[in-house]
Amino acid sequence: MIDLMDMFPTEESCLEYLSVIRWPDGYHCLKCGSVSYWKKSRGIFYCRDCHHEGSVIRGTLFQDTKKPLRLWFQAIWYVVNQKNGVSALGLQKALGLGSYHTAWEWLHKLRRAMVRPGRDRLSGLVEMDEVFMGGVRPGKRGRGSEGKTLVLIAAENTGRKIGRIRLSTIPDASAVSIKNATLEMVDPGSTINSDGWDSYNILTQYGYVHAPVTHANSISGDATPLAHRVASLLKRWWLGTHQGAISAEHLAYYLDEFTFRFNRRTSRSRGKLFYRLIEQALQINPVPAKTIIHNI
Ligand SMILES: [Zn+2]
Repeated sequence: MIDLMDMFPTEESCLEYLSVIRWPDGYHCLKCGSVSYWKKSRGIFYCRDCHHEGSVIRGTLFQDTKKPLRLWFQAIWYVVNQKNGVSALGLQKALGLGSYHTAWEWLHKLRRAMVRPGRDRLSGLVEMDEVFMGGVRPGKRGRGSEGKTLVLIAAENTGRKIGRIRLSTIPDASAVSIKNATLEMVDPGSTINSDGWDSYNILTQYGYVHAPVTHANSISGDATPLAHRVASLLKRWWLGTHQGAISAEHLAYYLDEFTFRFNRRTSRSRGKLFYRLIEQALQINPVPAKTIIHNI
């Protein structure tokens, strides 16, 4: 964290970093396209031709922030360095923030940036299974269960290892719900391994090769071992980092955070993750506080 603050000693140095990431080929006027500009303070680029003022943070996650960008950079650095995810309390302590609420809100905003706009779907050989999150009693397959949310797991099988994953909340394990979520997560043409649950059969109508495995004829006695490994990590993260306290309204965003970390788990460079999260924060629209539902 100290090294990071040496790299970004001032607000201007943060703004400079953001502008290089946002406009890797250099700034062009956002209105007339001119490359003739003056740099003013606070990340403002003034066009000499049409006098338009472009701002590096306008239209991004950092728009309207009242806190220094250096503090945001510290928050992002902290977030990418916690292997098992972060809680608002953890972030508040790490940054010495006076307000728990600010930490809570920042994490919610950063989770929005953890999904790259227009990201690829999974492809190749993909294992799928559903898991119930939350509640105390086991849920019944095929329909919702009180206090629980059903999550559909898709995990690329790259030869006994897990490649990338995608997670999606679904209202139930019906064929329609599984089909809709699969279309968002996996490229048609991919081969889907599931267990024998009938709902997955619908996928063949949508361009997928469906290759169900029954528990009995699987090698390990487990039809979808990769999806199950993801499910157990997901549960551990849910109970450990978040003490099981994620409301259904917010679960999808927490799943995005889990996916972001999981898909980059082998990346040795934390600096690259820092760069990637800032890059995505610049690609998404501002997240006004009032759009975040305020119950955990
Ligand atoms: Zn211009």
